[in-house]
Amino acid sequence: MRLADIAAVADEARAAGARLVVDNTFATPVFQQPLALGAHVVVHSTTKYLGGHSDVIGGAVITDDDELHERLKAYQNSAGAVPGAFDAWLVLRGLKTLTVRMQRHAENGARVAAFLAQHPRVHDVVYPGLPTYPQRDLAGRQMSGPGGMVTLALPGGHREVDDFVRALRLFSFAESLGGVESLVCHPETMTHAAIPAEERRRRGITPGTVRLSVGIEDAEDLVADLEQALEAPGHG
Ligand SMILES: *Cc1c(COP(=O)(O)O)cnc(C)c1O
Repeated sequence: MRLADIAAVADEARAAGARLVVDNTFATPVFQQPLALGAHVVVHSTTKYLGGHSDVIGGAVITDDDELHERLKAYQNSAGAVPGAFDAWLVLRGLKTLTVRMQRHAENGARVAAFLAQHPRVHDVVYPGLPTYPQRDLAGRQMSGPGGMVTLALPGGHREVDDFVRALRLFSFAESLGGVESLVCHPETMTHAAIPAEERRRRGITPGTVRLSVGIEDAEDLVADLEQALEAPGHG
């Protein structure tokens, strides 16, 4: 949930004769357009928001450099990383609603983050739309919306996360993100388990860190679910 200054890094890359590749999966083209900020290549997991329905696995590589495009196409043709027709169709179907989905993900993300930020049992809510977000100026410069990913920390660590996740009813416990249904995951033991513990701490991921992919359900239902899970037995 920490941002890189894409325009500044692109300038440094150019000065060093290197190319900047940006993974734009969390922001999507609706909220951030890295090529316009100076990046050379953008990659997306289309498994996430672009597909949007947690029913397809895929990826996309985008560049505005003709020569690089030719090389990537030749590599794809010989290496065989080509999506099946049905997978491609599922992503195209998802793209039709991308803008309205992202607007709703961001509205719900903001509502959920505001609720969590004022909850006495919740620590360290990180969301680019919160007034307390440390890189708010940068977020405002390079993103047109805060997206649907929210992280928080529960002070009781693993034990408290376990109780919280079991008590949730609308948020499914799963590792992916970006689908219409809300998901919750525990980065320390799931998405970031392969990173050495010391490096995880350095990046701010603690045993109590919880990641939410806020879906497009009714915002008040999501807040009510989080509220009842935080008050379930085992907390505090
Ligand atoms: C999920 C994810 C990937 C990997 O994509 P898959 O479609 O799961 O292979 C890469 N980058 C980000 C930011 C992701 O969230």
